[in-house]
Amino acid sequence: MNAPQPLSQDKTQHPGDDPYLAVTHEVFNQPTALENYNLFAQDRALQEAIDREGAGAATGDLKQFGALAGAAETIELGFRANENKPVFNTHDRFGHRIDQVDFHPAYHQLMSIAMENGLHSSPWTNPGTGAHVARAAKYYMHSQVEAAHCCPITMTFAAIPSIRKQPELAAIWENKILANSYDPRNLPDGEKQSVTIGMAMTEKQGGSDVRANTTRAYPIGAEGPGQAYELVGHKWFVSAPMCDAFLVLAQTKSGLSCFLMPRWRPDGSKNPWQVQRLKNKMGNIANASSEAELRGALAWMVGEEGRGVPTIIEMVAMTRFDCMIGSSAGMRQALAQASHHCHHRSAFGNRLSDQPLMQNVLADLALESEAALAYTMRIARSLDSQHLEHERLLARLATPVGKYWICKRVPNHAYESMECIGGSGVMEDCIMPRLLRESPVNAIWEGSGNVQCLDTLRALHKEPDTLDAFFSEAAEARGSDARFDRFLAQLQNDFADISDFEYRARNLVDRLALLMQASLLLRNSDPAVADAFCASRLEHKGGLNYGNLPSGTDPAAIIKRATPVVE
Ligand SMILES: Cc1cc2nc3c(=O)[nH]c(=O)nc-3n(C[C@H](O)[C@H](O)[C@H](O)COP(=O)(O)OP(=O)(O)OC[C@H]3O[C@@H](n4cnc5c(N)ncnc54)[C@H](O)[C@@H]3O)c2cc1C
Repeated sequence: MNAPQPLSQDKTQHPGDDPYLAVTHEVFNQPTALENYNLFAQDRALQEAIDREGAGAATGDLKQFGALAGAAETIELGFRANENKPVFNTHDRFGHRIDQVDFHPAYHQLMSIAMENGLHSSPWTNPGTGAHVARAAKYYMHSQVEAAHCCPITMTFAAIPSIRKQPELAAIWENKILANSYDPRNLPDGEKQSVTIGMAMTEKQGGSDVRANTTRAYPIGAEGPGQAYELVGHKWFVSAPMCDAFLVLAQTKSGLSCFLMPRWRPDGSKNPWQVQRLKNKMGNIANASSEAELRGALAWMVGEEGRGVPTIIEMVAMTRFDCMIGSSAGMRQALAQASHHCHHRSAFGNRLSDQPLMQNVLADLALESEAALAYTMRIARSLDSQHLEHERLLARLATPVGKYWICKRVPNHAYESMECIGGSGVMEDCIMPRLLRESPVNAIWEGSGNVQCLDTLRALHKEPDTLDAFFSEAAEARGSDARFDRFLAQLQNDFADISDFEYRARNLVDRLALLMQASLLLRNSDPAVADAFCASRLEHKGGLNYGNLPSGTDPAAIIKRATPVVE
């Protein structure tokens, strides 16, 4: 038999190639992977926000965390955790009910990073100037790596204000909730030094309208706050069902009340709340979400009987804030991917990021991302200063406005960023499909868009001063841009009559958000960013897609500011 002949005879041109393989082409004009970069050091807008909002002292810590979040190994964890869906097992091999969800080790590693770095705890363990801001910055970076596991991190973080309403329960649980370590074992909380907390409100027939919940709570002995009850009913959505305990809403004879329900009973037996199945989600894959039935599950009442919503709303307010951080992070990561790609890719003879039409798109995406971050970090400062009346009023109104607006801006931003990358952006080995699939989730959970608008309306009715606080804060930019001044005056005028507010709520809330974002950018950002934001968002000229910045704006400056540099 003849020996196989090399397909290419031209060995002088390809001296290093295997002579038995055809040399078909050279790979060029492809970007390097966006990895091994510092998510803090390569994010100018984030660094400026940290200084501005009072967390400058955390810069060193944040820089360290930014390097960890940008390391190739950490980024890889995000991919692994999403390629391997959580698996639910009702029973062990001997037939005992266990309600066990098994995750890929990458998920556990991400959880460890988050908890060891205090993403669930730091503003409670070290409160004060910059505490929420610094924690938000870490969450913003970590969520860019992988967003889904941030759900239990958020819920654990957010549970503290609600649990503190019942001091004897807080005395048992708080130290373990705030421990900076992660213990995923399916054991009674008494045997663990650190725990995670979930929330179970949503039912099939109720959803947003939790007053329609049918799950009932039966007192075991004495009734009232801090007392033990048994819960019977169901929950249609319970994310992170491996949490060690959950804040649950259930009806008593006095109405909807809030309860703390552990996974295990204190006697070491399994608490009879049973996971029925895991949700088959389009995104948020690494995070398990479940349906559950409560079959006499032991739980203790938190807060006043019949005041379940005001009790759990303390937790919900915090989760809504985290939705703003997570959505801002999603836009930042999409923008980083798009701008990095276009910086390293040429078409028709020129670098993509130097071509006018692509510059318009990229700069527009960058404005959206920076405006979201600026708004979120301003609210983080408010959370650090709740003892000040202005900050309390501002956070009350600005949280539903921001949760509505920022979360809603993400899906189209993710899609446009994907398109900047072209066909490779659609492939599963790129992070973009994950960012796109994750993008609607923050808008829908923790109170969907319309519910946020209605909450804005509720805040205006109950505390009209919230609107004054919002406008007075925004008006600090008055006089710096004529377009801003006109927008502010028109919006104030439109709020003079809120008789059909419910019907017009989206329009008014949209404009409140734009007003605050413009004000923050005018006061604090690069003039090119502020100018283009006002030109494209405050004076509507009809174009609805990204890439609608008018002539005269400076896209190159905006893109340069936003593009991460990989050494
Ligand atoms: C991935 C995922 C995980 C989740 N995890 C949890 C969890 O851990 N714990 C938990 O309790 N819940 C969880 N949820 C549930 C989530 O909070 C609810 O889906 C959400 O609150 C909306 O409720 P619903 O799905 O019943 O929709 P509905 O309440 O039926 O709302 C449907 C639509 O109607 C709108 N709407 C409602 N009321 C009004 C009104 N008065 N006027 C105008 N429009 C209105 C809403 O904005 C929404 O757009 C999760 C959801 C998802 C998608």
